[in-house]
Formats: sequence, C-alpha cells, structure tokens
Amino acid sequence: VRESTVDVERAVPSQARRDDRRHILHSWSSHAKLEPTVVVGAQGVHFVDEEGRRWLDFSSQLVNVNVGHQHPRLVEAIRAQADKLCTIAPYHANEATSEAARLIAEVAPDGLDRVFFTNGGAEAVENAIRMARLHTGRHKILTAYRSYHGATAGAIAASGDPRRWPSEPGAPGIARFWGPYPYRSSFHAANEREECERALAHLADTIMVEGPKTIAAILIESVVGANGVLVPPDGYLRGVRELCDAHGIVMIADEVMVGFGRCGEWFAVDHWNVVPDLITFAKGVNSGYVPLGGVIMNEAISATFAERAYPGGLTYAGHPLACAAAVACIGIYRDEDLVTHARRLGKEVIAPALLAMLERHPSVGDVRGLGAFWAIELVRDTTTREPMVPFNAAGADNAPMIEFANACKQYGLWPFVASNRLHLAPPLVIDEATLRDGLAIIDEALSVADRHCSS
Ligand code: PMP
Repeated sequence: VRESTVDVERAVPSQARRDDRRHILHSWSSHAKLEPTVVVGAQGVHFVDEEGRRWLDFSSQLVNVNVGHQHPRLVEAIRAQADKLCTIAPYHANEATSEAARLIAEVAPDGLDRVFFTNGGAEAVENAIRMARLHTGRHKILTAYRSYHGATAGAIAASGDPRRWPSEPGAPGIARFWGPYPYRSSFHAANEREECERALAHLADTIMVEGPKTIAAILIESVVGANGVLVPPDGYLRGVRELCDAHGIVMIADEVMVGFGRCGEWFAVDHWNVVPDLITFAKGVNSGYVPLGGVIMNEAISATFAERAYPGGLTYAGHPLACAAAVACIGIYRDEDLVTHARRLGKEVIAPALLAMLERHPSVGDVRGLGAFWAIELVRDTTTREPMVPFNAAGADNAPMIEFANACKQYGLWPFVASNRLHLAPPLVIDEATLRDGLAIIDEALSVADRHCSS
C-alpha cells in the first residue's frame, strides 16, 4: 500500500465515525454491525481512508466512477454551474440540462433522441415501466431471475435478485424468465450457441403462456451486472428484439451499470447493434459526481407523450448541477477516448490476465466480461463447479469470500465481491501499468481462495 497523497491531518475522522455510527442507517446493512471505512479523499483511481491507507479502486465504487475520482474538468464544471444556476424546477429549460440531453441523444443508439431525467437508476426503471405501460395499454413486465433493477418499490419487485425477498409480495404484474448463463446453463446447453437458442425458445414460451397481449415490456440488463457480469451470447439480444417486435412488446434495456463506456461501447447493446425502445441509464452518465439517471426513448414512445401529458415527475429531474456534470463527463469520454481505451484494456490486458488465472488457480471456475467489466467466479471444484459459497450465503457460510476480499484489501486493492464472484470494474481512466498492478494483487489473493478447493 502506497503513501497517502491526501492531507489526512485536516480530516476529523473520529467525529465522522462517531456521527456515522450513531445517526446513519446504511444501505442493505444493520447499523449495529457495520464498520464503514471512513473516506477522507480520493484522486484518480485511488481513494484514501482516515488511517491514511490509499486504496486502488477496482470497483469504481458502485461501478459508477468511470472517469476516476476528482477529475479536474468535472469538478470545475460543477463549480462553474454552481456559480451560475444551482437549481431550477424541471418545468423550466436551462442550458446544462438541454445540453446534457442533446449529448446523451448523440451517443445513444440511432433513433433514441428524447430523455426523461431522474436522480438515479431505480427511478429510471420505475419511469421506463410506466412509459411502457402507457404506451402499450398493457400491464405485465417480464424480467430475468438474475437481475437487479434498483431498490424502490417497483424496481425491487422487478428485480430477480434475492434482495427483493424482504420486500415481497412487492408489485403485481411482474413475471420472470431465465436468461442465458453459459457457465451454469438453466437449459443444459453445451455451448453458447445452444444456450442462446434455448434461452430464446424459453422466452418465447414464457411470452406465450403469460399472454402476449398482456405484456407491456421485457426489462433486461444488456449485460447482467450485479448478478454476475453475464455477457449474453451473440444473437440473444437480437432475438429478444425480434420477439418484442413480433408481439408489440416494448424492449427496455437497463444500462444503469453498463452504459456510458463501461463495456467498451457507449452502450452495451452497441456490441450487437441492437436498438431497444427504451434505455435506462444513471451511474456512468456523469460518473456519479452528482446524482443523475434517466430514460432515453425512441420516436414511437416520444410520440405517445407529444400531446398526452406524461403522468410522472421529480422535483430534481434534470438537476442543473448533475447535468453540467454529465456534459463534462461525456466530454471527457470523448476527448480522452475512454470508450476505446476500455475496450482495448479488456481485450489486451484483462482477458489474457484472467485466462492465465483460470489456468493457474483451482478456485477459478469461470472468467467473463467485456471492456472494463469482468467477473471471476470462484468454485470449490472446477469439475463439479460447486460454488465457493452457497447461493445467497451469509455469515459463516460466506467466510471464504470475506477472507478472499480481505486478502485483496491487504494489498491495497478495493474489491467488489458479490456472492461467489469478484467483479472487476476499475475506473475507465486506469492506465495499463496500474491495471496490471491490480490484476497481480488479485492473482496473489486467489491463493487464499485456492486453499478451500477440494483438489
Ligand atoms: N439497474 C441496474 C442494472 C443497476 O445495476 C442498478 C444499481 N446497481 C440500478 C438499476 C439501480 O440504480 P440506483 O442504485 O442508482 O437506483
């Protein structure tokens, strides 16, 4: 772990920790148990805690800090906007919000030209669902079992992730299907092509038995994020598009985690030239410097709300500070060529390094990803593919993954561990040498996981 570059003397860590412990309930946590790391500063691909430890951020926080921490151009854009206009009601127009919408339409797939702004991903999903229902006059939403769409009432109900369980029975009108996952095929497929065909046949059956005329939308993560970095086989998203077209169903691509360059294209769907009717976005749109999300819509859905009012809105929709950050962030992606950089790093650095780990470590069952978004799936045994920890493990059952995460942390790398997987999502600005340093740390930490293997 290298030396801190932040003046930790000026921070008031013990007060921050005391106030946190006493007054904050953190997301997905019980406050009696959580001991959060108190962060006092950040720069580029690192952040620094109150003890002066400098962490290599291999998660981009929650896969959002794509341009790295404290990017000077982004910070300056927020400052300049704060001087000019901090807030204004969403029924007014203003320069920052208008320009952000134009730039988002420019980088979005062809034909998606109008933006509805929200404050984050879950609200984007809520509104995409509402738009699809109003546009089609139907109610049902099909979503995948292995999916996460956010924590608000509708978005959590639409998620397949076990995080929805405590919020059930949730919202009516949701039906679920299995998406492709070649390493653990629900369809007993032998290869990616078969997985693609069978997953599409299963989706077609699901549509049939749910009743095509009741289905407003298929809501799908273009590349499944929190549930495993599942890259769909070639042909799958095109097949979903065709099924939607055949039945008049709206295709919603949830790109909250993977949009804006994460997968080495502006949007993950661009890898397959598939154009959804709606795209939800957040995180990468401005790297999370100020909360922002939204829905990008095609002409047909835009036309639905040309004369008829859209019945939904948020006080802070299209917030000028957040939109000024988006304008700067998209400018940075373009000027620093970060989308191409992410694609190149994935192909030339991450993929070969992970394949070498797959060869070398008995605990590595599968490696997969695209651009700067990858997962290493840990197993007890590469033949049986028994996961390193059981599904939805907690407490002692999850100990091997905690131990592995701690091994990464010991070398100064901040990991994103989910279930039996390590997700790799460094800021897109990471340089090749630093990326290789991080990969070497993971390689080292895997020796700790190897000890739990049966062979
Ligand atoms: N959709 C996807 C695919 C996500 O990954 C997330 C957040 N991880 C969300 C929606 C929800 O976004 P937010 O937390 O900003 O509400």
